[in-house]
Amino acid sequence: MTTDDDIVVRLEKVSRVYRHGGIEVHALDQVDLEIRRGEFAALVGPSGSGKTTLLNIIGGLDRPTSGRVWIGDVELTGLSAAKLADVRLRRIGFVFQEYNLIPVLSALENVEYVMLLQGVPQDERQRRALALLRDLGLEGMEHRRPAELSGGQQQRVAVARAIVSEPLIVLPDEPTANLDSAAGGALLDLMRTLNERKGITFVFSTHDPMVMQRARRIIRMRDGRIVAQETP
Ligand code: ADP
Ligand code: MG
Repeated sequence: MTTDDDIVVRLEKVSRVYRHGGIEVHALDQVDLEIRRGEFAALVGPSGSGKTTLLNIIGGLDRPTSGRVWIGDVELTGLSAAKLADVRLRRIGFVFQEYNLIPVLSALENVEYVMLLQGVPQDERQRRALALLRDLGLEGMEHRRPAELSGGQQQRVAVARAIVSEPLIVLPDEPTANLDSAAGGALLDLMRTLNERKGITFVFSTHDPMVMQRARRIIRMRDGRIVAQETP
């Protein structure tokens, strides 16, 4: 039970073991972690060190083999699949390396879609989505489909979609991996501005040193463990 209002994520001795035939992979090994409201933190570490597994467990896309996880005051461990889906919808914003926008929907419709699932009325959905797209530099592109946008623009739409319903935390997994360095830098600057101006909490993974530099907390992972932390 967390009592501190400022803690948005808490993991206690979280392990995730994958079993393949007789072989066990310890993707996460006894991880303890707290993320406070307003943090801008990077998970860094080599490929296979457990970054994606950790983000998926924080966001309720995956469950630990052992240990406990809280998002705000809700303990995820033991929630039914339906309750977990509801926590994801209302409290978590995801951003993926591959953008994962819905190809047949416009930028505007992609951003509205989450609010549609949440039952937000149509005029409010449209007002909020338009304002946010404008804020994120996408004015004039609202009616374009993902294929008609550059990678950097698609990822900005994905960020808009992730934050539009004001989640407790946003979890971008390698958000710049498919962008060139200029677009990647611009995306990180945008995320950092959202963090500073709106107080949105971000935990993102990366192995790009340029992206890491923009973090305010670096959490270094290796072999499923947190091995060091820095505040640059
Ligand atoms: P990272 O994101 O840092 O590259 P991952 O969290 O994807 O690391 O992977 C951590 C470890 O868990 C790796 O050894 C990976 O092969 C293994 N792993 C991840 N997902 C699965 C899965 N669905 N099935 C089996 N092993 C997995
Ligand atoms: Mg990964």
